[in-house]
Amino acid sequence: MPLSPLLSADALAANFTELKPPLRPQEALVEATRCLYCFDAPCITACPTGIDIPAFIKKIAFGNPASAAKTILTANILGASCARVCPTAVLCEGACVLEDRDEQPIMIGRLQRYATDFVEQRGLRVLPPPPAKKSGKRIAVIGAGPAGLGCAAELAQLGHSVTIFEKQTQAGGLNTYGIAYYKMKPQVSLAEVELVKSLGVELRTGVAVGKDVAVAQLEQDYDAIFIGVGLGAATKLRIPGEDLPEVVDALDFISQIHTRPLHQIPAGRRVAVIGCGNTAIDAVTQAKRLGANRAFIVYRRDEADMSAYGFEYEHAKHDGAQFIFKAAPLEVIATDGHVSGLRLILTHLVNGKVEPVMGSEWTEPCDLVLKAVGQEKQAKLIHDLFPALSVDVRGVITHDPLTGQTNVPHLFAGGDAGNGGREVVNAVGEGKKAAHGIHAFLTKQKAVPPVQPSRLGAKQGSSGSGLLKPIRAHELEAALKK
Ligand SMILES: Cc1cc2nc3c(=O)[nH]c(=O)nc-3n(C[C@H](O)[C@H](O)[C@H](O)COP(=O)(O)OP(=O)(O)OC[C@H]3O[C@@H](n4cnc5c(N)ncnc54)[C@H](O)[C@@H]3O)c2cc1C
Ligand code: SF4
Repeated sequence: MPLSPLLSADALAANFTELKPPLRPQEALVEATRCLYCFDAPCITACPTGIDIPAFIKKIAFGNPASAAKTILTANILGASCARVCPTAVLCEGACVLEDRDEQPIMIGRLQRYATDFVEQRGLRVLPPPPAKKSGKRIAVIGAGPAGLGCAAELAQLGHSVTIFEKQTQAGGLNTYGIAYYKMKPQVSLAEVELVKSLGVELRTGVAVGKDVAVAQLEQDYDAIFIGVGLGAATKLRIPGEDLPEVVDALDFISQIHTRPLHQIPAGRRVAVIGCGNTAIDAVTQAKRLGANRAFIVYRRDEADMSAYGFEYEHAKHDGAQFIFKAAPLEVIATDGHVSGLRLILTHLVNGKVEPVMGSEWTEPCDLVLKAVGQEKQAKLIHDLFPALSVDVRGVITHDPLTGQTNVPHLFAGGDAGNGGREVVNAVGEGKKAAHGIHAFLTKQKAVPPVQPSRLGAKQGSSGSGLLKPIRAHELEAALKK
């Protein structure tokens, strides 16, 4: 049967409420005062963009969320989205010293959201304007995902003229189209795009480099190029039935949730998701939230081998998702031209290799199959655009991890296209590093890794805001109401 929407708009709105709602001012204040403001804070080292976490938390504790947002955005222009989507449990919060004392780590992500929401909701501009005197250098950035935006914002603040070329009609990359809807709405990502534009960055959307504009043209018009094209389409399953209409890339399925009203999205009643990384978890969870009676993951290895984070796995189980481990898909079964089942076979390990268990085949009924076994690398696109560029055996662009520079001196790379697929915060951090690499290349200076913001404002007893004692909750709430 063709798929159709299953739940009412109200039920869907309830199912897709935010996983981590915003903190109220009083909650933020209480949480901020729990921080020890460690001197050699491990949470800073654990953040790929090096946000001065104790400094911004102290500013919140002292009643100055706008200054806290300035600290965050100076280090990470996508601080608002990272506050929502970062796997904080394995990054900053995972490194928080309070865990060693058997206490709950500080809710760094939610405090970061509190500060960045504060300035966004009030339209406050906290970053200084970029230098009025321009360097005269022009840089083209290919791709307006987190890597491209991170690179462009930093270059603009260093005084260079930057143009981003983005093939989609909306910028933001996977932050706009791919993140689970209950973690972040696309509006947050689009507001960050506006923030980057407000630094003087030119954005040309709907322009695919290699199709709408030639690389030769960019090389003629610009002094350097940053390549932040991310990854490609979902990896194919290569099994019979893969071309049926209800066999869909998990990323396309998730992208629909971002681009269509929820109550118009055709949903599966019984959904099979193939793969067991974080994308598979996001897909199975959202399939359940769209109304599936049953949504299950099929993974050819064991629970211990899956690449999804433990907390994402727990979350999916909590949402009612099921897991079939040690099984591989053989064929998608159709009835009257539509998906009706997925034929599976048990697997086991033989000398470390996954092999089928002969005679163990069975069929799981389903009406939607989501492919989440990874995204193709962009090796072909990269080769077509830049034939001289080196890619490694995985198909990702080889580059200096400190400067982003590739084997072709005026070409720089970062984000998923350069790391093979990590997190938003890695992409932003790599874009920022590449901006400093480009700056050094263009100004013929020695490359200096991005300078972390000064921690002067984070000393005990100083909020960096001129206040001498922490503000009280009722004073803050009164101030916020003004
Ligand atoms: C389903 C899914 C869920 C995820 N969830 C999380 C999460 O919860 N938390 C987290 O931290 N990370 C998450 N990630 C990972 C994160 O989204 C990526 O690591 C990050 O977006 C990488 O940024 P990027 O800029 O390198 O690439 P992208 O975000 O992919 O951006 C690349 C951009 O380049 C553009 N482009 C490509 N080719 C061209 C061309 N020829 N011309 C012009 N433009 C071009 C693309 O249209 C795109 O906008 C998730 C990834 C997926 C797939
Ligand atoms: S968040 Fe944790 S690790 Fe970081 S400064 Fe505060 S107490 Fe220390």
